[in-house]
Amino acid sequence: MLDAKIPNGPIEKKWSEYQATCALVNAANRKKMTVIVIGSGLAGGGAAAALGELGYHVKLFCFHDSTRRAHSVAAQGGVNAAKNYQNDGDNVYRMFYDAIKGGDYRSREANVYRMAELSVRLIDTCVAQGVPFAREYGGSLGNRSFGGVQVERTFYAQGQTGQQLLMGTNSAIARQVKAGRIERFSRHEMLDLVVKNGRAIGVIVRDAITGEIERHAAHAIVLGTGGYAKIYYLSTMAMGCNATAAWKAHKRGAFLANPSFVQVHPTSLPALGKHQSKLTLMSESLRNDGRIWVPARSGDDRSPEKIPDSERDYYLERKYPAFGNLTPRDIAARAAKEQIDAGHGVGPMRNAVFLDFRDAIAQHGRETIQSRYGNLFGMYQKITGIDAYVTPMLIAPSPHFTMGGLWVDYELMTTLEGLYACGECNFADHGSNRLGANSLLQACVDGYFILPSTIGNFLSSRIKEPLSPTDGPEFDQAESKTREDIQKLLSIKGSQPVDYFHRTLGATLWDCCGISRSRESLNRGIEQIRELREQFWNDVNITGGAHEPNSELEKATRVMDFLELGELMCIDALHREESCGAHFREEYQTKEGESLRNDEGFGYVSAWQHRAEGEPILHKEPLSFEAVNVMTRNYK
Ligand SMILES: Cc1cc2nc3c(=O)[nH]c(=O)nc-3n(C[C@H](O)[C@H](O)[C@H](O)COP(=O)(O)OP(=O)(O)OC[C@H]3O[C@@H](n4cnc5c(N)ncnc54)[C@H](O)[C@@H]3O)c2cc1C
Repeated sequence: MLDAKIPNGPIEKKWSEYQATCALVNAANRKKMTVIVIGSGLAGGGAAAALGELGYHVKLFCFHDSTRRAHSVAAQGGVNAAKNYQNDGDNVYRMFYDAIKGGDYRSREANVYRMAELSVRLIDTCVAQGVPFAREYGGSLGNRSFGGVQVERTFYAQGQTGQQLLMGTNSAIARQVKAGRIERFSRHEMLDLVVKNGRAIGVIVRDAITGEIERHAAHAIVLGTGGYAKIYYLSTMAMGCNATAAWKAHKRGAFLANPSFVQVHPTSLPALGKHQSKLTLMSESLRNDGRIWVPARSGDDRSPEKIPDSERDYYLERKYPAFGNLTPRDIAARAAKEQIDAGHGVGPMRNAVFLDFRDAIAQHGRETIQSRYGNLFGMYQKITGIDAYVTPMLIAPSPHFTMGGLWVDYELMTTLEGLYACGECNFADHGSNRLGANSLLQACVDGYFILPSTIGNFLSSRIKEPLSPTDGPEFDQAESKTREDIQKLLSIKGSQPVDYFHRTLGATLWDCCGISRSRESLNRGIEQIRELREQFWNDVNITGGAHEPNSELEKATRVMDFLELGELMCIDALHREESCGAHFREEYQTKEGESLRNDEGFGYVSAWQHRAEGEPILHKEPLSFEAVNVMTRNYK
């Protein structure tokens, strides 16, 4: 049984009591200790800056050309906090409750409460860093809502919240670089983890410019390497998002939890052709004012303005009157799929639904709508050539965020001693569905506030330990394995580019383990992925060499890991015989087509242990709920 090390006591006191009693490392000792942080997004970057500020020696790695380019930069909509500026009844408990309910009771209560609790402090930290959150006329910070909630608690910086938060983090990193406490390694990709006797002692990284393979040792290692939804190829994620660091840690002994919980965002732009490699997100905040509909008659191809209200189906408002267009993402995405599958889809590929601002413009005026979402409308027009002030936007569901990730305990430590995971690359806070604007929050609070406290508890008893020598056998073995993989990949010289395999894997996963899954589709997926993996190792073609900038090789090392992870996602989805949140098993639904959860049978986190041969081993972390009553989700 997995021990999540959740502190005793009432939920609202767990974190403060943990902090009051955990061991500390004093300032004179912190500077003797090295922490490696992989990833410079809000989670990794925030952790590096906070650890540097505390006085640790930090080595910060990312594969981007600059730490400012992490995928966090893309986040548009906002970050949640229970500040209750609107006086609309919000508080920490309600925020915690919304997130637990939104996650369909498959997240860990203690972590979620802590996230809500720390949200209040986060906004002050960000404002102090200069993040330009939207403000009301009187100067107070403005708020709006996101799906799954009935209050306004989302803080935003127009449509560039992630970018602005990351600028704040980068200023904090720059300060520590100048102070000599952070060493920054851009264009360096972690390709393996070095483990000795169950403890993480270092990493193997590749310098993307020279191709050199390097060894780095540390007293503790933090992964803030983001999510893996790019495994679907077509997704809203940045092109470089991948699973390599987490997957290699998994292969070295870290358990991977709930890998099949993948969020499909309901408001991305639809694929408009066969050769796209990326889908663009239109922020969920648009659902505050936009109304979603499809033509009531299937196959109706009149232009939207010619379809009268009586012949439109505002299906979210019809099915979920209490939340309407602001139902959570899993519900909105599946409802859109239902409409599209039933022939009501719109757009050139009939794979979209309408998001319509006609009524909001009539009510509030174009200027107000422009001031709220102007840059999103501009982006939409740039991509599609269509003016969404006049014609409804086309939107469609697409893979967006992974709720699964490395299993971590309350301290954010994985099952490998000394290896931590924060932000989207861990699994803990979102259950089987993430509510909008909670991910930036989790990444930031993991990095700025939680990890710097919990890591001290581990490091305090290792003060006298020297760094592991990088010429030890564990480093030799990990480096040789990395070199072998690269040599093998380059020597295949087959007939298909890496993208072919990634695209095929993505299509298979979307079909077999996408918005909805069944026993039959998942078994098919496992078989197809195994065949594809074999084909990859016989027929991939990588141009260029190992000792030069080589994006094809970089892609191949990532796709090689995706091809293994994809199978585990299907195995995880197959074993979970229930529907919850974003995990919808067709065999388990109510008469009305809603999710049928099975709390007795599956009220646990599935944490998988890798085995070199044979099926992975399933471990369970039972989920118990003390502060909320577990109920069937209802947004009607
Ligand atoms: C289009 C879009 C809009 C979004 N909008 C919102 C929003 O409005 N609100 C919200 O809450 N959430 C939003 N999200 C989700 C949110 O942006 C992410 O979940 C969050 O930013 C993840 O942060 P992170 O620090 O965990 O990872 P990331 O920001 O993905 O950072 C990962 C870092 O790890 C590095 N890395 C990865 N692998 C390696 C490796 N092997 N070696 C070295 N470095 C590595 C990368 O270089 C990068 O620096 C959005 C997501 C998308 C796709």
